[in-house]
Amino acid sequence: MSASSSQSSRSGSGLVAGSLDLDNYSLITASNPVEWDYEGEPVICSCKMMAPRWTSWTNANPGRRFYGCPNYKDPTKCCKFYLWHDPSLCDRGKEIVLELKAREKLLHKEATFWKRQSLILKQNAVDFVEAEIIEENARLKKEVKMLNNKIKEGKSGKWVKLFFALIFCGCHLCFCQGFRQYIYM
Ligand SMILES: [Zn+2]
Repeated sequence: MSASSSQSSRSGSGLVAGSLDLDNYSLITASNPVEWDYEGEPVICSCKMMAPRWTSWTNANPGRRFYGCPNYKDPTKCCKFYLWHDPSLCDRGKEIVLELKAREKLLHKEATFWKRQSLILKQNAVDFVEAEIIEENARLKKEVKMLNNKIKEGKSGKWVKLFFALIFCGCHLCFCQGFRQYIYM
């Protein structure tokens, strides 16, 4: 297996080292990349067309690459040509690859679950903060209303005081006037 063919099949899986972009990630062990740009002479199928290189993920040949007719997936057009590129794995090798395949599937399932959980938690946090803001807003509005009422009460109290002060002054003037008239009588 050459380094270039290994890279091309891995880049097709969408796996990026150090990150897990679940939305764009497809299982390596479930993908069947079609490689047209492989090393060496092009392999020609019985239809006289260039045969791309595929990867088998069957239990009998997990991860084993082969050249197949470009119409491999269309039984009405396929010439049924195939040629193995990799040698067959030993039974232990197949066992390990199949176990890794199962683990990859499980890990992907778990990662998807935790991603969904984190989105739910994020949404819950946003809802909580929004509810807190709404509550605080209502409390502040109530406080503003109370302060406005107090200001209004204060203003009306001032007018009442002024009214009584004027009456007092009026009475005082009348009294003084009456007193003066009494003295000079
Ligand atoms: Zn063919």
